Amino acid sequence: NRLLNGRPENGDIETDRTLRPRTLVDYVGQPKIKENLSVFIRAALNREEALDHILFHGPPGLGKTTLAHIIAQEMGVQIRTTSGPVIEKAGDLAAILTNLESRDVLFIDEIHRLSPVVEEILYPAMEDFKLDIIIGQGPSARSIKIDIAPFTLVGATTRSGLLTNPLRDRFGILFHLNFYSVEELASIVSRSALILNVEIEEQGAREIASRSRATPRVANRLTRRVRDFAQVLGDGRITKDIAMKSLDMLDVDHVGLDAMDRKFLETIILKFDGGPVGIDTLAAAVGEERDTLEDVYEPYLVKEGFVDRTPRGRVATRRAYEHLKHKRQFNNQE
Ligand code: ADP
Repeated sequence: NRLLNGRPENGDIETDRTLRPRTLVDYVGQPKIKENLSVFIRAALNREEALDHILFHGPPGLGKTTLAHIIAQEMGVQIRTTSGPVIEKAGDLAAILTNLESRDVLFIDEIHRLSPVVEEILYPAMEDFKLDIIIGQGPSARSIKIDIAPFTLVGATTRSGLLTNPLRDRFGILFHLNFYSVEELASIVSRSALILNVEIEEQGAREIASRSRATPRVANRLTRRVRDFAQVLGDGRITKDIAMKSLDMLDVDHVGLDAMDRKFLETIILKFDGGPVGIDTLAAAVGEERDTLEDVYEPYLVKEGFVDRTPRGRVATRRAYEHLKHKRQFNNQE
């Protein structure tokens, strides 16, 4: 289990249930998305129609699933959730689609991992609310069309580039989720502390926020951990001092990097002389899957300027050298 992983880990299910905001008003940050969504939702409600299909893309833990739930809540409909790798057969998806009621939300997480046969079922369903089903085999096989209820597909993916073009084209609305600012995360931390019934000082919330990799899921996870330290080391209140001490003990440094991040950067610096090094080589060297490196580690490290992605591979930046206290001559342009 990695504390700073934006993907859900054991123990997150319960946290999600209690801490997930239920309405757009409670959803912190992503102002453009919220503004647009509230217009689209109001318009769809006025027309008494299903909302257009929506694709959310962005790193794990930034609030895609949460938005899908909020959409259903604000539209006053049911939500059915599943994920790309879980739907194995075309029939599985057909069963889900035929059970939807008018205007329901179907949420498919990791939608880029749908198999091609399953994806084929989605096209006419998204476009005309119809299912093309093949009955029988061989020469006697025939295709029949079944109407399904108009619904809204909400898809989530870590990288929209992984989606096939025909699938991406069928979404009416595409939103990219951005990393959160320290202020936004501090307000998420304070809100979570309130729900968890723990007292927190503003500076304590900021300290947790600034080490949370700009990711709400991580902020909530760190808040829970720091709460434990506050009970044992202090009087239960999360102060700046308690937050700093506990996060140091949890090996989350002041810019939100942990041992795995540092290993990733050190590998580029020490084994590959700062890069460029190809992602597959790097994955083998640090003993992680390439997908995990690309989805979980890199987006934050790139955003914070520790790594550059170049056509020839990954390169450790001046900031990475300075942070890890390794020496290297950089010329001024770098
Ligand atoms: P994703 O689907 O992008 O991986 P989730 O929607 O599961 O991320 O979000 C992870 C957790 O972070 C949620 O359980 C929720 O508590 C919290 N969270 C995410 N976005 C926000 C937000 N904008 N405001 C408050 N909490 C949030």
